[in-house]
Amino acid sequence: MRSNPSDYELAAPGNLQAIVSLIGSEPGKWLPIAGGTDVMVQYAAGKLPALKLLNIWNLPELRRIEVSADEIRIGAGSTYTDLRKNSIVENEFPLLASAARWTGGIANQNRGTIGGNIVNASPAADSLPALLVYDADLILVSVRGERRVTYASFHTGYKKTLLAQDELVKAVCLPRRFSEYFAYARKVGARKAQAIAKVCIAAAGRVVNGSAEDVRIALGSVAPVPLRLTGTEKTVNGKIISADLLRLARQTAAADIRPIDDIRSTARYRTAVAGNLVVEFLTRLNAEQASGDFREAKDVLTKWNALSRDEAIKTILPCCGSRAWAHGMASHRPLTDEAALLAASSDVWRSLTTSDWVEAFQSHPRIGESRAEQPPPAQSVEWSTQEQRAIADADAAVKKALADANREYERRFNRIFIVCAGGKSAGEILEILQRRLNNNADTELQEAAEQQRQITELRLRKWLQG
Ligand SMILES: Cc1cc2nc3c(=O)[nH]c(=O)nc-3n(C[C@H](O)[C@H](O)[C@H](O)COP(=O)(O)OP(=O)(O)OC[C@H]3O[C@@H](n4cnc5c(N)ncnc54)[C@H](O)[C@@H]3O)c2cc1C
Repeated sequence: MRSNPSDYELAAPGNLQAIVSLIGSEPGKWLPIAGGTDVMVQYAAGKLPALKLLNIWNLPELRRIEVSADEIRIGAGSTYTDLRKNSIVENEFPLLASAARWTGGIANQNRGTIGGNIVNASPAADSLPALLVYDADLILVSVRGERRVTYASFHTGYKKTLLAQDELVKAVCLPRRFSEYFAYARKVGARKAQAIAKVCIAAAGRVVNGSAEDVRIALGSVAPVPLRLTGTEKTVNGKIISADLLRLARQTAAADIRPIDDIRSTARYRTAVAGNLVVEFLTRLNAEQASGDFREAKDVLTKWNALSRDEAIKTILPCCGSRAWAHGMASHRPLTDEAALLAASSDVWRSLTTSDWVEAFQSHPRIGESRAEQPPPAQSVEWSTQEQRAIADADAAVKKALADANREYERRFNRIFIVCAGGKSAGEILEILQRRLNNNADTELQEAAEQQRQITELRLRKWLQG
């Protein structure tokens, strides 16, 4: 174990040919360093596998994204920011675009590369399930020339790859045939960015004549390598997505994966989450693609992306009620699918100040009432009415108890009670309200903010339906 900088040698030949020659002259002795976001962590821990470091950061041959009619070829040295800014990635490979948004923070996205994520070979890496779903190929390069391998064959075991000691990853190739697929990505972790996933999923598929077709599901953090759930895919492909099929898919997903207990989670929790994610993906695939909502969502977003900034802010504001959130969303344009929209919404929401949050809270009527503190737009009033339908139908005693608890809440926290009421009975809402009256101010603010985030998500989904 060494940590003295003078123990290390750093070479920076500056072009790919010289780099490949140098590695070829001493296979296994040189460790490529691209963005360094994994390498520097290993260095600090005294765990670097070599003393000779070879700088491959920002090499023009590795940091380019080329597009042909059939495929997109992403240089291994492309950063997450490069991916996020590329309109073909954003429009045709939303699973990769989501992963790029979720990887670390902005600084990490400016430095971390897709090649580094692949070769670092963490089973929890965010971009790797997307590469499995999109049937990626890798171009590997060495003094012996180039070879093209399927990405699915690349990870051969925990932190093991089929990269030879004298090889570099040059590029990732994705076939351009998935743009019409329904895409679904989720990262379940302590938080979305700056946290390693407990489980992450990338999935895509279509519904043709009522049946699931070419369903592709890949998960991270559930096995020694990022995993395609081939058993589950086989179970659902060609079938109508019914409640029975969802039950079966959950069971098959549990059999497909090999999760472990570690510091971030337990195998049991990971199995439950994996099942939930698979079921949510299939349910949404069925509902959205079958009813054409998927295409409608694309149309709504295409129109919104083309609006002037002021119009875009005005249009999306009723989904949340915070002007800062609406400004943030407009700055994230173009957003091309629901996953990207919801991810941006959560990111923007979490970056806001308390007063922005409170502005959103005030755009809601008090639970059980119809008038908000701040006069909201008509669309917001309509959504609030739908969200609170269960309360309108509740019996008089529950309504009175809610009114009393509301008053108590406002006295304690100096603002109205916020809960994502959709799907909850009046009794359940009352129970939640009474429980939250025991929170301290900080906990309650966070809980209200999370409820508002969920309300916004539901409203965005409704908005996408046109
Ligand atoms: C604060 C922080 C947050 C993070 N958050 C996330 C996260 O949310 N999700 C996630 O998936 N990861 C995360 N990471 C991990 C890391 O940022 C990614 O894995 C990143 O993609 C690594 O890329 P890099 O260019 O920095 O790799 P480097 O650190 O330069 O290299 C990593 C490994 O890949 C090898 N390598 C790099 N490029 C090549 C190439 N072209 N050919 C052959 N070998 C190569 C290196 O030799 C090294 O072994 C985080 C890291 C940090 C420090």
